[in-house]
Amino acid sequence: MIKQRTIKQSVQETGIGLHKGDKVTMTLRPAPANTGIVFRRVDLEPHADIPARAEAVGDTMLCTCITNADGVSISTVEHLASALAGLGIDNIIVEVDSDELPIMDGSASPFIFLLQSVGIEELNAPKQFIKIKKSIKVKDGDKWAELRPHDGFRVDFRIDFDHPAISQTRQHMVLDFDSSSYVDEVSRARTFGFMKDLEYMNANNLALGGSMANAVALDEYRVLNPEGLRYSDEFLKHKILDAIGDLYLGGHSIIGELVAYKTGHGLNNKLLNALLQNQACWEFVSYDNSEELPIRFASPILAN
Ligand SMILES: [Zn+2]
Repeated sequence: MIKQRTIKQSVQETGIGLHKGDKVTMTLRPAPANTGIVFRRVDLEPHADIPARAEAVGDTMLCTCITNADGVSISTVEHLASALAGLGIDNIIVEVDSDELPIMDGSASPFIFLLQSVGIEELNAPKQFIKIKKSIKVKDGDKWAELRPHDGFRVDFRIDFDHPAISQTRQHMVLDFDSSSYVDEVSRARTFGFMKDLEYMNANNLALGGSMANAVALDEYRVLNPEGLRYSDEFLKHKILDAIGDLYLGGHSIIGELVAYKTGHGLNNKLLNALLQNQACWEFVSYDNSEELPIRFASPILAN
């Protein structure tokens, strides 16, 4: 049986929140089977739980935020969600003493490191995958995203930035996670932003924690970070990282292909909700053994 996963023990990390720029302490805790991903605001009394659910996602202009039935929210969940997807972790409690997760270095890599440092524990319950049976597509202007049946997990992603530093890098790629490693190929890609936007946001008390320590910063012509890019196609890969995280807020790894053109958090979430509401397009599947499992990025070997 391919089993659900959690982490072996708790681990704590401190970082800066992107929005407020304050110190945030996050504790990742193991959780029993069928708990899912649950964020817990320990700055509130009583503590408030915010389960990750596709329909609870909102406020997607700068990042992904989820809200519980009582209206309590947690922001900047997408890079941790992407790391959890990459390692196939089904069940975890994410405690934070703020209304946002720490931004860390703007990628999923620090979260991967934390999760791998405590190790992955298998639980005695079948892991449930969402298998795409029929294509489903959502659009927003010229942007679109589609999930298609595929016996594995593959991402065919295209961005189209009319910016000299981005347009000279690769803007389209097909990543097949049968042969590519999420941890190696995707997890280190940082978020990116334009200095003019950051200056505008800071003037409006937004993104106060944003800096070159947690983003690739661009002026009108070039990358400003002295260390340059981590991947030659880091912009494209960060958009893929975001999409993987956004789709994992449904709580299950997807067996299928994501084909996307210029999507962001809002459209990714729209696609996930459209999928979950169209029962004819997908089914839950579980597997008896790893030979049957069509996706490699969630195999026990890679995660340990
Ligand atoms: Zn991102």
